[in-house]
Amino acid sequence: MTGVAPTGLIERDRARLWHPYAPASPDLPLWEVGAADGVRLRLRDEDGTCHEVVDAMSSWWSAIHGYRHPVLDAAARRQLESFSHVMFGGLTHAPAVELAEWLVGMAPTAPGRPGLERVFLADSGSVAVEVALKLAVQFQTASGRPSRQRFLSIRGGYHGDTFAAMGVCDPVDGMHSAFPGLLAGNVFAPRPPAAASATPESVQAWALELQDIAANHSGELAAIIVEPVLQGAGGMHAYPAECLTALRQVADRHGLLLIFDEIATGFGRTGELFAADHAGVVPDIMCVGKALTGGYVTLAAMLCTGEIASTVSGGQAGALLHGPTFMGNPLACAVANASLGIIADGCWRADVARIGLGLESGLTPALELEAVRDVRTIGAVGVIELKGPVDVTAVTTAAIRHGVWVRPFRNLVYTMPPYISTAADVDQITAGMIAAVAEVHERVPARSGGAV
Ligand SMILES: *Cc1c(COP(=O)(O)O)cnc(C)c1O
Repeated sequence: MTGVAPTGLIERDRARLWHPYAPASPDLPLWEVGAADGVRLRLRDEDGTCHEVVDAMSSWWSAIHGYRHPVLDAAARRQLESFSHVMFGGLTHAPAVELAEWLVGMAPTAPGRPGLERVFLADSGSVAVEVALKLAVQFQTASGRPSRQRFLSIRGGYHGDTFAAMGVCDPVDGMHSAFPGLLAGNVFAPRPPAAASATPESVQAWALELQDIAANHSGELAAIIVEPVLQGAGGMHAYPAECLTALRQVADRHGLLLIFDEIATGFGRTGELFAADHAGVVPDIMCVGKALTGGYVTLAAMLCTGEIASTVSGGQAGALLHGPTFMGNPLACAVANASLGIIADGCWRADVARIGLGLESGLTPALELEAVRDVRTIGAVGVIELKGPVDVTAVTTAAIRHGVWVRPFRNLVYTMPPYISTAADVDQITAGMIAAVAEVHERVPARSGGAV
């Protein structure tokens, strides 16, 4: 930590910008990023003090290979020297074609089940979810079932911030109450039992309830959408892979498409390449995003089976009705291809397992804190759940003092480190998280929540 003169940038930000889920308010703390390299960020606070921190968040699940990765930097530079963007209507280019081939080659497979073989490139995760939901409705209409316009989801889910995506997020913790006239109409099954405490009986009971709900609404439902195995922004809830098998069976029985939102879980984060692979279940539609470009540029994709693609294309509309201006952006695709090339070398599997063990042993001592309700890990994800709301500002600031960047929400302080994190980096993250929680939540009674 070194004292340096303030730059005034934070003050200028406060006068002009919005931040995620934040009021246009002058009193939330902000840190200016001066540099990012490997797993480290160089932050400057409002007083001009610099802090070097390990990014425990991978910039919200995305920077899996760390910052300024030489292979990704080179791919971006190479594409920049060729061309950065061209429209995708009527034109194509190598980066997009290669990306589609990579994704189809990596997608989950199972014997006797059609694979995911058609790719729609979208600008962000939320847009990929919009496209998936749109495609499901178009598929049902083209199959002679135009009354199937609603979706079945599970409580505690998060699928993005655009309207259709918000509509399948948890109806209580999500944003339904702010837009009641625009988000009604979907159907929600209970949240599956927690992985740590689930039994075959509790999974079975949940599956029966899911089955009943699907049976009662099947004439109106186009698809089921879930985050497989790990619900992220809806509460960092891990659930048994057997639930995916139940979801597949219910979808098949009632003519529903099964959509897996792998935007957070994809590309190795939960210990398998896709969370669907924990159960060997193949969805009809899959969304990926976040880590797709290794955190460099926004890009997402929706994959579907050949049957869905041909049915929708043969329907009255004759096309999938979506087409972003920046669809298939070559710069983003080129970086994604470089990132998937690193994934394809397979080293992520040992990295994720190693980081997972480090998180488990490093975070377990948090259970001794009075304020802590639960500690859990899955893949390279570690979660400290408090009994009450986290004082976000105080915990963030304390963690920075311990050299760690975290962004808690609700009652959760969690981490998903870059795959390149060393044992020492993981130790720094877990020690910093525990120290921050202890300093803020053990000495004084829990304060109020703060920003998301
Ligand atoms: C982040 C996320 C989204 C939304 O992605 P954006 O790129 O922020 O639009 C959708 N689904 C899940 C599971 C996510 O974690």
